[in-house]
Amino acid sequence: MRSVTTAPTDHPPLRVLSLIPPMTQLNTPYPSTAYLTGFLRARGIDAVQDDLALALVLRLLSADGLQQVRDAATAAPAAQRTPLVQAFLDRFDQYSGTIDRVIAFLQGRDSTLAHRIATRAFLPEGPRFASLDVYVDPDDESGGDPMAWAFGALGVQDRARHLATLYLNDLADVLRDAIDPRFEFVRYAERLAMSQPSFEPLAQALAAPPNLIDSTLQTLALDSVARHRPQLVLLSVPFPGAVYAALRIAQAIKAAHPGLRIALGGGYVNTELRELAEPRVFDYVDFVTLDAGERPLLALIEHLRGRRSAARLVRCFVREDGAVRWRHLAEPDVPFEDVGTPTWDGLPLDRYLSLLDMLNPMHRLWSDGRWNKLTVAHGCYWKKCSFCDVSLDYIGRYDAATATTLVDRIEAIVAETGQTGFHFVDEAAPPKSLKALAAELERRGTRISWWGNIRFEKTFTPALCQQLADSGCIAISGGLEVASDRLLALMKKGVSVDQVARVTRGFADAGILVHAYLMYGFPTQTVQDTVDALEYVRQLFANGCIQSGFFHRFTCTVHSPVGQHPEQYGVTLQTLPPVTFAKNDIGFLDPTGVDHDLLGRALTKALYNYMHGIGLDEDVRSWFPVRVPRPKVHPERIARALAAG
Ligand code: SF4
Repeated sequence: MRSVTTAPTDHPPLRVLSLIPPMTQLNTPYPSTAYLTGFLRARGIDAVQDDLALALVLRLLSADGLQQVRDAATAAPAAQRTPLVQAFLDRFDQYSGTIDRVIAFLQGRDSTLAHRIATRAFLPEGPRFASLDVYVDPDDESGGDPMAWAFGALGVQDRARHLATLYLNDLADVLRDAIDPRFEFVRYAERLAMSQPSFEPLAQALAAPPNLIDSTLQTLALDSVARHRPQLVLLSVPFPGAVYAALRIAQAIKAAHPGLRIALGGGYVNTELRELAEPRVFDYVDFVTLDAGERPLLALIEHLRGRRSAARLVRCFVREDGAVRWRHLAEPDVPFEDVGTPTWDGLPLDRYLSLLDMLNPMHRLWSDGRWNKLTVAHGCYWKKCSFCDVSLDYIGRYDAATATTLVDRIEAIVAETGQTGFHFVDEAAPPKSLKALAAELERRGTRISWWGNIRFEKTFTPALCQQLADSGCIAISGGLEVASDRLLALMKKGVSVDQVARVTRGFADAGILVHAYLMYGFPTQTVQDTVDALEYVRQLFANGCIQSGFFHRFTCTVHSPVGQHPEQYGVTLQTLPPVTFAKNDIGFLDPTGVDHDLLGRALTKALYNYMHGIGLDEDVRSWFPVRVPRPKVHPERIARALAAG
């Protein structure tokens, strides 16, 4: 039941509808609308929310939806059909007859279907299933792909979920080939928005006649508006891969309800649209707000109620006289202590899909199961790393809440959702706050499971790691970045490799899964640095410090210290074209001239094997396809660091 505090009677009625546009995760709602809806309700404002990302996928991946895909595919000339689409049409009855059952299974509503799916005789198998064949090749002298063992070791439920996930991935590929080449489950038309200096590509895409995906989404958006009858719609755009769909939603709403006001905000807007100067964006939305949404939203609501002029909006772009204007009356942000408790009320929590991609144990947490998302604090308490957007509010403005407030929020969320799993989505949760939180959970006897991001700093002693485990911590992730003391110092990470070894081992000994974010391609990183970093990573796995990891290629953003002071990092930035729309990533020239693409593939392969306990005794040079120097790291370096700790 929705608990709405009644708005004071002297306010004109105003209902705010927050929408999650496609695409975002499908296993759990993206949290931004839950935060805003909880905040607004706590302030007595009538607020509701809808997840159109999930709704779109559920509508398309249904017997009716697949029939429409089939109609669209057969309407196109046969010569244009890809083999994948043809195979879908040939086996349409099999797809159509299984899709609703598979969705119910992945939603956890029909678990016994697992046995049928696991036989591999139930689902039509397209190209995505080919990955299974390499798993179990007995003739492979290398012992087969490690995924073979992972798959073979899965229980029947997980096997079935993995097979069902491959089946959905095949169908996503059919949507891509038959309907829209820009479609993917986790992003939609991302390239139209990511670091795009001009709005023109998006404008052209939005001017094209809607395809089946667009029109389905637009119907869902209009249904939502008809159901909720809001006066203000908030489109929260976390990633570039949700921008196109957000504007398609706005386009439909504006066409049907020209008087309805629409505001655009969220993570993508906060990072990429800070220099917005393109008036055509306001053909779709009325307001574009930057950074933490609470204060700008309160100002906007006052404005819509006639109590505040447009000139006194907070951190808001508007269009006036055909030009984009920045309106910002400096008012303090709402303290994190006072932002209220997120609410998932209105979102169909029993309809999310527990997918199983089996990438690695941490990614499994990401894509599997429904986690309540909460932040321990606003921003990062460290805010120094030179590759990070430390100049932006979401990192640079640190503001914490008391443990009492956090556990109050946790208990309220458990009471509302009935689910006790929490993902703390901080960029780096502060150890002091986590310690206080663990103590408060313990004091109240509140039993939850939780995981989140931290920095591997020495405050996390073995005793604290154990206390966190006792409070329900099951996994943590943190940045080891490039495992090199020289580069860790250059990136101002504030940790050393030895320290990371001791801290991660403390977590692992407490039974907590440890995932390391790893990086390559940082300015001035040499081939020797890369080989040494992999040797450190090998030893960290071999010594039981980390169990999971992922290598990211370094990208330079304009908001990071590297992007702002490239000369301090020995690189030269490429010149950007004039920007009227998005600005974020920026190319750079590193005089070391290392082929990081080539090395990166070797790093990924090695890491993948390490996660399955394979190749831990091998010389790290064996992973590289080219001759690389011998590691300069002593083979017992991590073992010694642990012994010395
Ligand atoms: S990388 Fe992480 S720890 Fe470093 S400043 Fe950014 S958020 Fe903080």
